[in-house]
Amino acid sequence: MLLPILKYGHPVLRQKGARIERLTPEIQRLVADMFESMHAANGIGLAAQQVGQALQLTVIDIGAVKDRPSTVEVAGQPVAVEGFMPLVLINPEIQPHGNPATGPEGCLSFPEMYADITRPEWVDVVATNERGERIQFKAGGLLSRVVQHEVDHLQGILFIDRMSRAVKDDLRAELEALQRGTKAALQEQAGR
Ligand code: ZN
Repeated sequence: MLLPILKYGHPVLRQKGARIERLTPEIQRLVADMFESMHAANGIGLAAQQVGQALQLTVIDIGAVKDRPSTVEVAGQPVAVEGFMPLVLINPEIQPHGNPATGPEGCLSFPEMYADITRPEWVDVVATNERGERIQFKAGGLLSRVVQHEVDHLQGILFIDRMSRAVKDDLRAELEALQRGTKAALQEQAGR
C-alpha cells in the first residue's frame, strides 16, 4: 500500500524513533509499504518518521543508482552492493568515521531540494534486518551517505541540520514556504 510521505513542517519528522522490540505482522507490513512508497517516489532511502511512525526503522535501496559508487564490507571482506540490496535497518547503531566527504543530497520530505552535505566518508553499521537477524557491515560512498541520512531521521535530525549556513540561507525562502504549506494542510485536516 502506498503511504503518504510527510513533508518538512510535520512534527513527526522531529521525533526520535522508539526501538522495535518485536517483528510483528504490523511491522512486516510497514516495511513492505515503505519499500513500495519509496520506490514509487524514486527514493533510495526512507525512514519510518517520513510515513508518520516514530520508530527505529529505515529502508534503503540504492540498487538502481549507477552513477554514484558505493562499497560494502562484511567482516572485512568486500561484497557486491547489488546483492546487498534492498536493505532494512531496524534499531541501527552507526559509527561514522574517516575524512569528511561532501556530496549532493536530497530528501523525499523536501521535494525538489538538493544540497551539498559533508559527512564522514565511512560508516560502521550494526542493525537487525526484516528477518530478525543481526547484520553488521561497513559502507562507503553513496551507501554510507544514505545510511547516515536515514539514521539521522530516526533521531529526528534532518539534512537541513547538516547544511552549511550559506547553503541553508540560499534555501531559506523555499524551506519556509514548504513548512508553511505543511502546517496549513495539518490545520485544515484538524479542522475538518
Ligand atoms: Zn530524508
